[in-house]
This record gives sequence, C-alpha cells and structure tokens, in this order.
Amino acid sequence: NKAIRKAVIAGNWKMNKTPAEAKTLIESIKPLVKSAGCDVVCCVPYVDLSVVLEAAKGTNIGVGAENCHWEKSGAFTGEVSAEMLASMGVKYVIIGHSERRQYFGETNETVNKRIRAALDAGLTVILCVGESLEQREQGVTSELVALQTKIALGGVSKEELSRIIIAYEPIWAIGTGKTATNEQANEVCKTIRDTVAAVYDKAAADAMTIQYGGSMKPGNAAELLAKPDVDGGLIGGASLKPEDFAAIVKAAT
Ligand code: PGA
Repeated sequence: NKAIRKAVIAGNWKMNKTPAEAKTLIESIKPLVKSAGCDVVCCVPYVDLSVVLEAAKGTNIGVGAENCHWEKSGAFTGEVSAEMLASMGVKYVIIGHSERRQYFGETNETVNKRIRAALDAGLTVILCVGESLEQREQGVTSELVALQTKIALGGVSKEELSRIIIAYEPIWAIGTGKTATNEQANEVCKTIRDTVAAVYDKAAADAMTIQYGGSMKPGNAAELLAKPDVDGGLIGGASLKPEDFAAIVKAAT
C-alpha cells in the first residue's frame, strides 16, 4: 500500500534564520533536491515566507508556515491567519507541533480549530502528534496518539483528508539525538493509520501520508522510511543543513 502514498519530506526550520539567512539556505537546498522522487516541503518562520516563496518559485519545493490562527482576521494581536498565508502562496502549515503544545498552551481543541481554518483556506496541514517520555513509560502512547488524532480531525471530511499529513513525533526524540527505533516509529504510525481507518475507512487510511519526526538524519532516514507505515519525515535540526536535508530527501526517493 505504500505504493499508493506520496512520500513527503518536510523541513521544520523552527525559530531559526533571518530573511537574509533564509534566502541563503533555500538557495543551497534548491539544487540538491531538484530531482527528488518525493514531495519536498520547507516550513519556515513567518518573516521568512516572502523570500523563501520567491526563491522557491518554479521549483519542486513546497513552502509552509509553522502555525496559523483559526480566526480569519480581527483583534488577535501577534497572530497570523490561514487566509493570510494562503494569499501569499503558502501551501502547507504545521499544526500542533509539540513545542506549540508544550510552551504555548495549545490543546487538542485549538489544534482542531487551526486545522479547520487551514483547510478552509485551502492549505495542506501537517498535523503533529506524539507522546512524552513519561507517557511512553506509562504505556499510554497508543491511546494518547489515537485521541490526539481523533480530536484534531473532528469535523474534517473524508475528502479533506487528502490535504492532511500526520507526523508522528515522540517528544523525547525531538532535538535530543534520540531516535525512535524503526519498530517504535512504525508501530505508532500504524496506530495512527488504524485510527484514521476507524474514524473514516480503510481506503482513506491507506492513502494517508504519515511521517515520522524526531532526530531523523541521513544516518537513520533510509531504514525508518523503509518501514511499511512510515511515509516520510518531518525534519528539524537536519533541515537547516542542506546536505543532510538532501540526503534524507534522497533516502525517501
Ligand atoms: P528534530 O525536530 O529533527 O530536530 O528532532 C523534529 C521536529 O520537531 O519537527
């Protein structure tokens, strides 16, 4: 079934790169990924979107933001709406990253509202789910990830699932150098797929791109991506290093 799914490698630049630095980075990534056999996405800080969109024009790199608000416009100081992103030519948006949940109080409910707004604006969502180390040790990973997935997808139609990518990101593996084993990654990606199948149907679940994220790098990407339920990667640290990012893209090809 992997054959019917699109492999997607997405970089998550997080809070890194000024616009000038972003231009340099995207220009170095461009030639290295131009013959990619998978979809390539760079999700970048709001202030970098203009330069990255301009530099990525006419290339195979899709550009994404790292969050969006659920309101269209109004008195929400400091926020950026999905409409604003879409109007610039942004195609993707990360929603529910664990850093948003941990440090900025985002909940499954606000994640759901943001997804609804992003879909309404025509964006493709990269929804992040995943457990903390404590939750893994308590043995609640499957239930937690299933719950995060179900609540996030509330009110999302089956047709709209073609614009949802889910990234399984164990919090203990993010930026720590600790990667989930191939089996752990696959097991939870499969739990997510089974959850989608239960809420929608098997065909929808089979068509869904499910990524792994958390210290994915050139040295471990190929074997993670070879697992039957791992269809791509959400890459933090390594996405800031053009050669490393390109090597991961190549591993997905
Ligand atoms: P990492 O981050 O690759 O640096 O672990 C992944 C992410 O947070 O998306």
